[in-house]
Amino acid sequence: MCNGTYVTYGTVVAIDYKSGWWYKSCKHCFHALKESENSIHCVTCDTFPNSHVPRFSINLRVADELDTASFILYDKEASKYLGVSASNMSLFHVNKNEYPQELNTSVDKNFIFKISVKMEDINAFQPCIIVVLKLCADNSIISKFLDKHKIYNKNLVHENSELITILSDSTETPKITNS
Ligand SMILES: [Zn+2]
Repeated sequence: MCNGTYVTYGTVVAIDYKSGWWYKSCKHCFHALKESENSIHCVTCDTFPNSHVPRFSINLRVADELDTASFILYDKEASKYLGVSASNMSLFHVNKNEYPQELNTSVDKNFIFKISVKMEDINAFQPCIIVVLKLCADNSIISKFLDKHKIYNKNLVHENSELITILSDSTETPKITNS
């Protein structure tokens, strides 16, 4: 597998909470803040903000018929799927080591994932970072996808413009509930 964007079908088999499920982000650029003893720093904005916005960063274990891999689900797609923002959720789960049961709603479910793959450390257990760009749980789209690509043994296909259009259309109505 090379760097690039792919569309794949798989099952979320577990969520890995070892490195937490949210991070403290900068209000302005959404990047992760660097924490030191008495300040937090946004390297991107070069500011020292006195508050942060929690954002989702969820590590999914995704399996297809052949293998499993770690996919990172970031804030935009996570809050769309869960219907709640990380800041609303983390109010009730201040400890980073605790996690809300709501996150487990994706486990044992099948999805089409639009993913971005970046090679990182060739010696690592998984030598690439896989980020979920779009998550689709719509059964009619999933069966169209499976029919179209005759997916029974071939799990990874290159970006398909027609499918991407379907996926884009399906995300026009985000279910984010802001208070
Ligand atoms: Zn920033």
